[in-house]
Amino acid sequence: MSLDLYPQPVENDRECLTLAEDETYYYDAINMLFNWRLVMTPKATPEMWLYGWCYDGQLALTLALKTWDPETQNEPLGWKKRPTRVVRVAPHPETDTGYNRFRCIHGHYPADGPCPDPHCPDRGRPEALR
Ligand SMILES: [Zn+2]
Repeated sequence: MSLDLYPQPVENDRECLTLAEDETYYYDAINMLFNWRLVMTPKATPEMWLYGWCYDGQLALTLALKTWDPETQNEPLGWKKRPTRVVRVAPHPETDTGYNRFRCIHGHYPADGPCPDPHCPDRGRPEALR
Protein backbone atom coordinates (compact mmCIF):
# COMPACT_ATOMS: atom_id res chain seq x y z
CA MET A 1 0.00 0.00 0.00
CA SER A 2 1.76 3.14 -1.11
CA LEU A 3 0.62 6.72 -0.79
CA ASP A 4 0.15 8.58 -4.07
CA LEU A 5 0.60 12.28 -3.24
CA TYR A 6 -1.05 14.58 -5.77
CA PRO A 7 1.12 17.47 -7.10
CA GLN A 8 -1.76 19.86 -6.25
CA PRO A 9 -4.91 19.53 -4.10
CA VAL A 10 -7.89 18.41 -6.20
CA GLU A 11 -11.47 19.52 -5.57
CA ASN A 12 -13.77 16.53 -5.17
CA ASP A 13 -17.53 15.95 -4.91
CA ARG A 14 -17.31 15.62 -1.11
CA GLU A 15 -16.99 19.40 -0.59
CA CYS A 16 -13.30 19.19 0.32
CA LEU A 17 -9.88 18.72 -1.29
CA THR A 18 -8.15 15.43 -2.01
CA LEU A 19 -4.38 15.55 -1.46
CA ALA A 20 -3.45 11.90 -1.92
CA GLU A 21 -4.77 8.38 -2.21
CA ASP A 22 -3.76 4.77 -1.77
CA GLU A 23 -5.50 1.54 -2.71
CA THR A 24 -8.08 1.91 0.08
CA TYR A 25 -8.42 5.60 1.03
CA TYR A 26 -8.60 9.15 -0.22
CA TYR A 27 -6.62 11.57 1.99
CA ASP A 28 -8.85 14.63 2.11
CA ALA A 29 -8.44 18.12 3.60
CA ILE A 30 -11.58 19.73 4.99
CA ASN A 31 -11.72 23.46 5.79
CA MET A 32 -13.46 23.57 9.20
CA LEU A 33 -13.52 27.38 9.34
CA PHE A 34 -11.29 27.62 12.45
CA ASN A 35 -8.96 24.79 11.50
CA TRP A 36 -8.26 22.21 8.80
CA ARG A 37 -8.96 18.51 9.17
CA LEU A 38 -7.02 15.74 7.45
CA VAL A 39 -9.29 12.73 7.00
CA MET A 40 -9.02 9.26 5.53
CA THR A 41 -12.07 8.58 3.36
CA PRO A 42 -12.66 4.94 2.39
CA LYS A 43 -12.96 4.60 -1.38
CA ALA A 44 -15.60 1.90 -0.84
CA THR A 45 -17.81 4.28 1.21
CA PRO A 46 -16.76 7.83 0.28
CA GLU A 47 -19.86 9.40 1.84
CA MET A 48 -18.17 9.43 5.26
CA TRP A 49 -14.57 9.64 6.45
CA LEU A 50 -13.16 7.19 8.97
CA TYR A 51 -10.10 8.76 10.66
CA GLY A 52 -9.31 12.45 11.13
CA TRP A 53 -6.84 14.91 12.68
CA CYS A 54 -7.21 18.68 13.12
CA TYR A 55 -4.49 21.19 12.19
CA ASP A 56 -4.13 24.94 12.61
CA GLY A 57 -3.84 25.40 8.87
CA GLN A 58 -3.69 23.78 5.47
CA LEU A 59 0.11 24.13 5.26
CA ALA A 60 0.70 22.22 8.50
CA LEU A 61 -1.75 19.55 7.34
CA THR A 62 -0.02 19.21 3.96
CA LEU A 63 3.45 18.97 5.49
CA ALA A 64 2.25 16.34 7.97
CA LEU A 65 0.76 14.29 5.16
CA LYS A 66 3.96 14.51 3.10
CA THR A 67 6.09 13.22 5.99
CA TRP A 68 3.70 10.47 7.09
CA ASP A 69 4.05 6.80 6.24
CA PRO A 70 0.52 5.44 6.79
CA GLU A 71 1.82 1.92 6.22
CA THR A 72 3.94 1.90 9.40
CA GLN A 73 2.82 5.01 11.36
CA ASN A 74 -0.59 4.94 13.01
CA GLU A 75 -1.19 8.67 12.79
CA PRO A 76 0.48 11.68 11.18
CA LEU A 77 2.44 14.30 13.19
CA GLY A 78 1.64 17.85 14.19
CA TRP A 79 -2.10 17.74 14.75
CA LYS A 80 -3.76 19.47 17.68
CA LYS A 81 -6.84 17.30 18.10
CA ARG A 82 -8.14 13.90 17.13
CA PRO A 83 -11.89 14.40 16.67
CA THR A 84 -12.72 10.70 16.90
CA ARG A 85 -12.51 8.25 19.79
CA VAL A 86 -11.11 5.62 17.44
CA VAL A 87 -7.33 5.62 17.10
CA ARG A 88 -6.04 4.45 13.73
CA VAL A 89 -3.64 1.51 13.69
CA ALA A 90 -1.30 1.21 10.69
CA PRO A 91 -1.06 -2.10 8.81
CA HIS A 92 2.53 -2.59 10.12
CA PRO A 93 2.92 -0.55 13.35
CA GLU A 94 5.53 -2.95 14.75
CA THR A 95 8.19 -1.50 12.44
CA ASP A 96 8.01 1.93 14.15
CA THR A 97 7.15 1.25 17.80
CA GLY A 98 8.74 4.44 19.16
CA TYR A 99 6.57 6.54 16.89
CA ASN A 100 3.43 4.51 17.51
CA ARG A 101 3.29 4.89 21.29
CA PHE A 102 0.07 6.05 22.97
CA ARG A 103 -0.91 9.64 22.21
CA CYS A 104 -3.57 11.78 23.89
CA ILE A 105 -6.37 13.36 21.86
CA HIS A 106 -4.12 16.41 21.36
CA GLY A 107 -1.36 14.39 19.74
CA HIS A 108 1.12 14.45 22.65
CA TYR A 109 3.01 11.46 24.02
CA PRO A 110 2.04 11.52 27.74
CA ALA A 111 4.94 9.19 28.56
CA ASP A 112 7.26 12.05 27.58
CA GLY A 113 5.49 14.56 29.86
CA PRO A 114 2.00 15.81 30.63
CA CYS A 115 -0.19 17.26 27.89
CA PRO A 116 -0.16 21.08 28.01
CA ASP A 117 -3.99 21.04 28.08
CA PRO A 118 -4.97 20.93 31.80
CA HIS A 119 -8.32 19.43 30.83
CA CYS A 120 -6.84 16.62 28.72
CA PRO A 121 -8.99 13.52 29.30
CA ASP A 122 -5.95 11.28 28.89
CA ARG A 123 -4.07 12.67 31.91
CA GLY A 124 -3.44 9.99 34.47
CA ARG A 125 -4.60 7.08 32.35
CA PRO A 126 -2.27 4.11 32.93
CA GLU A 127 -1.89 3.32 29.22
CA ALA A 128 -0.70 6.89 28.71
CA LEU A 129 2.47 6.19 30.67
CA ARG A 130 3.68 3.35 28.48
ZN1 LIG B 1 -3.91 15.97 25.64
